[in-house]
Amino acid sequence: MSDLLAELRRLDKAHFWHPFTQMQEWVASEEDPLIIASGRGATLTDLEGRTYFDGNSSIWTNVHGHCHPAIVAAVREQLGRLDHCSALGFSNEPAIRLAARLVELFPPHTLTKVFFTDNGSTAIECACRMAAQYRQLAGESHRTHFIAFDQAYHGDTVGAASLGGVSLFRAHEAAAGYPVIRLADADQLADLSAETIASCNALIIEPLIQGAAGMRTWPPGMLRRLRQWCDQHDVFLILDEVMTGFGRTGKMFACEHEDVIPDFLCLAKGLTGGVLPLAATLTTDRVYEAFLGTSAEAKTFFYGHSYCGNPLACTAALASLQVFEDERVIAGLPLKIEALRSSLAIRARETPSWGEFRQVGLIAGIDLIADTGAGPLDPDLLTGARICRRVRAHGLLTRPVRDTLVLMPPLCAEPEEIIAAVDALQKASIWP
Ligand SMILES: *Cc1c(COP(=O)(O)O)cnc(C)c1O
Repeated sequence: MSDLLAELRRLDKAHFWHPFTQMQEWVASEEDPLIIASGRGATLTDLEGRTYFDGNSSIWTNVHGHCHPAIVAAVREQLGRLDHCSALGFSNEPAIRLAARLVELFPPHTLTKVFFTDNGSTAIECACRMAAQYRQLAGESHRTHFIAFDQAYHGDTVGAASLGGVSLFRAHEAAAGYPVIRLADADQLADLSAETIASCNALIIEPLIQGAAGMRTWPPGMLRRLRQWCDQHDVFLILDEVMTGFGRTGKMFACEHEDVIPDFLCLAKGLTGGVLPLAATLTTDRVYEAFLGTSAEAKTFFYGHSYCGNPLACTAALASLQVFEDERVIAGLPLKIEALRSSLAIRARETPSWGEFRQVGLIAGIDLIADTGAGPLDPDLLTGARICRRVRAHGLLTRPVRDTLVLMPPLCAEPEEIIAAVDALQKASIWP
């Protein structure tokens, strides 16, 4: 083992506290943290020169592959000109152009305003704060509640986490956050009393598919039903497209599948092509205009972050959108989606440890089942994690959601690479 690798592993274990990671297991003496040194296209290379297919797009962020030359060139050029300047009191060209470009992706006069933040959680936080302040400004301060779904995941800041439906992620916080009405599905809207509905501010959902829940899909038509229900009861619709945005579902945005325009659209992960942290909350003239007035009226949206509209990140996002156009990325997806669909169907039949599997576009989740029958696995066995560990030997990197294996290749992946990734997962999926 090289001195460099040994040194980095030692320093990592000594000082780097990793997200969503049991550090006692991470620092165990037999563990060797995998250190990624470089990336090209859908391939990541570790410090020892081993290559891997980036099977979950580096936690659902990467779109056009790593170090795409057009994005690298654009960011490099911008870095020579301006690294950062504040959006509080100033503006910059990449942020201005990106805001306009994002609005152009939607029909005219629908989503017209763009608020930049840094990550998915703050994109959600921003939408909720806007919705909450809107109700106060509109004289509807009784509309305090947010409708959210079981198993939902909307991020880790306190407000965003309070909307989440995965209890494990909320176990340690007090009752802080938004008041939430939690539903299992759209049918349960019918059970809400008129009084409850009148207390609702907004409904939030991950459209088509819930990511952190284990790639749980929603029934077709649900999104449109939600839009109608929200219109009928003057409840805002917040779409969390942090995972589903930017081609992942086969269209640019998941809401396009059902011709739905939300009141708030939250974008992050793939916004910069997965190159730099950046998020955007898009909203309507109706929301924006409620905040207008003189400073003395205190209607200002009192919210923001130091790096709002960072020129480098906005440049990466603009370059990524240009790659979508230049390489006709969306038009190339059906072939890849079909490769994923057919190889999953074939391999699932041959793999006794695979139960139900679900796919939306280039997002797939495969439930692992016990060898005693169709029953679920004992979660304490960490089977999903062990299989994803084992699959590295077959040149694939991915991370499960509990005992659901996840495949979410970058959109640039070739059909052969996708098929090879499914094959690798299958080879690693023997029962432990
Ligand atoms: C990842 C994710 C978030 C949170 O985004 P971060 O950038 O990790 O804060 C929110 N919602 C969904 C659907 C996500 O997948």
